[in-house]
Amino acid sequence: MNSKLKFYQSIRFKIALVFALMLMLTLECVGAVFVRQLEHQNLNTFKQSIELPSYVDNSLSTQLARSDTKKANRQIKQILSEVNNNNISEIRVIDNKGTIRGTSNADNRETIGQKSTDQAVKATLLNNRSHSENIYDNANHTRYYINVVPLVDSSNNNVIGAVYLRASLETVYSNINNITLIYLSAALITIAIGLVMAILISQEITRPIEEMRKQTLRIARGDFSGQVRVLGNDELGQLAGAVNNLSVRVEEAQESTDSERRRLDSVLSHMSDGVLATDRRGNVTIVNNMALQLLGVDHEDDLIGKSIIDVLNIRHDYTVRQLVNTEQREMIIDTANDGSNLILRAYFSPIQRESGFVSGLVCVLHDVTSQEKEERERKQFVSNVSHELRTPLTSVHSYVEALSDGAWKDKDVAPKFLEVIQGETDRMIRMINDLLSLSRMDAGTTKLNLEYVNIKELLNYILDRFDMIIKKEEEDGSSNKKYSIERHFTEKDLWVEIDTDKFTQVIDNIMNNAIKYSPDGGIITVRLLETHNHVIMSIADQGLGIPRKDLGRIFDRFFRVDKARSRKQGGTGLGLAISKEVINMLGGQIWVDSVEGHGSTFYISLPYVPYDEEDDWDDQEAES
Ligand code: ADP
Repeated sequence: MNSKLKFYQSIRFKIALVFALMLMLTLECVGAVFVRQLEHQNLNTFKQSIELPSYVDNSLSTQLARSDTKKANRQIKQILSEVNNNNISEIRVIDNKGTIRGTSNADNRETIGQKSTDQAVKATLLNNRSHSENIYDNANHTRYYINVVPLVDSSNNNVIGAVYLRASLETVYSNINNITLIYLSAALITIAIGLVMAILISQEITRPIEEMRKQTLRIARGDFSGQVRVLGNDELGQLAGAVNNLSVRVEEAQESTDSERRRLDSVLSHMSDGVLATDRRGNVTIVNNMALQLLGVDHEDDLIGKSIIDVLNIRHDYTVRQLVNTEQREMIIDTANDGSNLILRAYFSPIQRESGFVSGLVCVLHDVTSQEKEERERKQFVSNVSHELRTPLTSVHSYVEALSDGAWKDKDVAPKFLEVIQGETDRMIRMINDLLSLSRMDAGTTKLNLEYVNIKELLNYILDRFDMIIKKEEEDGSSNKKYSIERHFTEKDLWVEIDTDKFTQVIDNIMNNAIKYSPDGGIITVRLLETHNHVIMSIADQGLGIPRKDLGRIFDRFFRVDKARSRKQGGTGLGLAISKEVINMLGGQIWVDSVEGHGSTFYISLPYVPYDEEDDWDDQEAES
């Protein structure tokens, strides 16, 4: 905006100009009327002043009526010489024959007796009417007033002659000119003073306007500190008040917009969902911190200006137009290929003006990784359960079919078939029991019978049972492979709060696995040690081990490294999953370490508060 006005463009100049022009026009009109009036008045007065008194006319008439021309002429000369009027240049007396009988001008004496050539004189003699005119004498550049008056015989009213009067108008006109000149100079001075005053007045009028202009420029720049001075209560005063009011309103509006923006910013930055906003073309304009985090980007500058379909890596599947045209409102974005392993649900909604014009797009990103994983696991679990139950059921079904087809009569085959059926149903019952206890733990309805147990004693008790089995198997030769159990326990008694039955179940399960996967002659080493706040047990075998890729999934439900072999050995694939749940419920942790082909070691750690016997002793003393 051009803030500097040229002087001739300003209202100040325009007002002054109009004022001066009006003044000039008025003075011009007044002057014209005045000069006209003055001229008229002066001429009339002048004409009256040169009129001959009626007794002169009468005397001249009398002289013209005389028959003695010479005497009459002398008398006429006498009468004319007595007329004492400086304004009159010449008086001529002409008789009714047109002969000049006398003149007041000594230089024109020779014309006496001559015929008058003057047309006005002729007309007057003919018509008996006065005649007057203004003439301009080129010879001496003088204006003259000519007046011809008929002289009448009073007895019969006949024209007996005429008096010709010539008077110079120069004095009249020079008078008028002088007055006009004075008037003109006065008018010019008035116009000059008027112009200056007009400029001053208009400056005074436009000063508040100028001030308001500057204030509005400041408001536009966002500077609300100034105030326009309110001078008086006229329109400009009210306008100044309105501008000040406007300034306050704009400041308030600005402040509320700013605070709104700050609020939006803080809402955006504290949102647990990621938010992206784009312009009409789908290029990112706003990103909040969560969106950066979810998309694994360090700085928002890496996203601003990029197309949203590139940012979300969905260019292969969607176009910006599809997102804007509400065809696709919601989608799942798997960032697994980007290395961050997140599953995001993206909601899109177009930013629409009232007219329906879409000016951009808002995308809200919600982290649904855990939900999605749970959902996938749930589906996997249902499919696993159905699969696991179908296999034993199918085999039971086929054996029952075979028996009913006549195999029951065969004394050699029937018991074997029944044995298989019993084995399979046992396995199904075990599996269902395992599933039930897992589901109880999931639902949180499992009750723990917590008690302080000397864990070393408990482990010795469990392992003694296994040693008994080994001994028994060796005695009756029922075992197909040999193995032994070694114990490396800490000296100290460790009292830990556990549910004895459930903990025994966990150790049984891990021991059974170790035995199951041990080679012939393998040693199973069980260790027990303590740290300042944990007891740690480990059960190591020298078996097949677990492939590295499967280590992370070994505690998953139904996971088995070798499904066929595990089933053959009557495994349900739920043992380690239950163990993990139980240990977690006891506040501990379970993990595995394994080298494929060399053996596996399962570790269990449980929270432990060192039991100070002296404290106990002190307490007992205090009680007694
Ligand atoms: P299962 O009833 O099949 O034994 P688990 O949950 O107890 O079910 O074990 C899950 C899988 O972990 C087993 O199928 C097996 O593949 C593997 N596994 C468990 N313990 C061992 C071990 N000591 N050595 C090698 N593999 C093991």
